Amino acid sequence: MVGSFIPKNKKEALDLKAKYTELIPYSGGTDLMVENRKNPSYLFLGKLNELKGIKKTDGKIEIGAETTFTEALESPIIPQMMKDALILIAAPAIRNTGTFAGNIGNGSAKADSALIEYGLDAVITVESVRGERNIPIEDFYLGRKHIDLNEDEIITKITIPDIHPDFYSYEKVGGRKALAISRIAFLGILEMESDKIKSISVSFGAVSEKIIRYKDVEKMLIGLTKEEAKAKKDEFVKAYEDRMQLTEGRVSADYRKKVTIKLLKEFLKNGGI
Ligand SMILES: Cc1cc2nc3c(=O)[nH]c(=O)nc-3n(C[C@H](O)[C@H](O)[C@H](O)COP(=O)(O)OP(=O)(O)OC[C@H]3O[C@@H](n4cnc5c(N)ncnc54)[C@H](O)[C@@H]3O)c2cc1C
Repeated sequence: MVGSFIPKNKKEALDLKAKYTELIPYSGGTDLMVENRKNPSYLFLGKLNELKGIKKTDGKIEIGAETTFTEALESPIIPQMMKDALILIAAPAIRNTGTFAGNIGNGSAKADSALIEYGLDAVITVESVRGERNIPIEDFYLGRKHIDLNEDEIITKITIPDIHPDFYSYEKVGGRKALAISRIAFLGILEMESDKIKSISVSFGAVSEKIIRYKDVEKMLIGLTKEEAKAKKDEFVKAYEDRMQLTEGRVSADYRKKVTIKLLKEFLKNGGI
């Protein structure tokens, strides 16, 4: 046990993490502090302004790792689909301290901001004294409690595209209306270019060890008009039915499958497909 530290800037934080790799980085502590660890040593990142804030650059939105959900909800830059997810996270007290890095720091497929990051092809920046790495979220998320983060690295930034989709649908199914951890979460995004489908993104959260997104299946509809896509709709939905291996959780795998497919069909129908 080396004790805990409150670095004043990013350089100091990275130096400390390089020297004492056992330090556990954190900010909000809303996940961490309910764990029962023996003699932990912490690296508190909540005072680092370099890891906070939201800015727009070159068609992209950069979210500092230690930005809280409340700060994001108050930002005019954050896309509405992300806000739809954030406003359903816990209650105001948790949203005031819970952060973006903390939400993805456990690799949980139930993390509500992570689903939106999957759907938007977010890139996660991690840094150490050795330099920085930029990792697509689907490669960063390796499984429950397992992320692509070396022992001397910390998460510093999350980058999402500044897109304005023609249609999107976000749904969170929980045990109750408020203060619920996702049992099933869905995000569908549709972008058109003149009358053709430019991109379609379909992601499912909380139904498996990892968030599910099949980019090869999405390709089936890209470049088609909505009328042409309607003709392929059954084949498209069946590809998900055949491929998705859902895990048993607080609800059965069967129930999860039924609801996920229903959410997918509703998204396609409401999107005009
Ligand atoms: C009552 C309650 C309700 C909740 N409801 C929801 C909900 O509806 N939806 C949801 O998604 N979550 C929910 N959560 C979980 C939690 O609040 C969120 O996951 C939140 O985003 C965690 O952020 P944090 O800053 O508090 O993380 P912390 O607890 O500080 O850290 C969480 C993990 O991330 C790691 N970490 C943090 N920052 C970094 C970094 N910069 N680099 C590397 N690793 C880092 C930590 O080491 C730790 O392993 C809930 C929690 C509680 C207690």
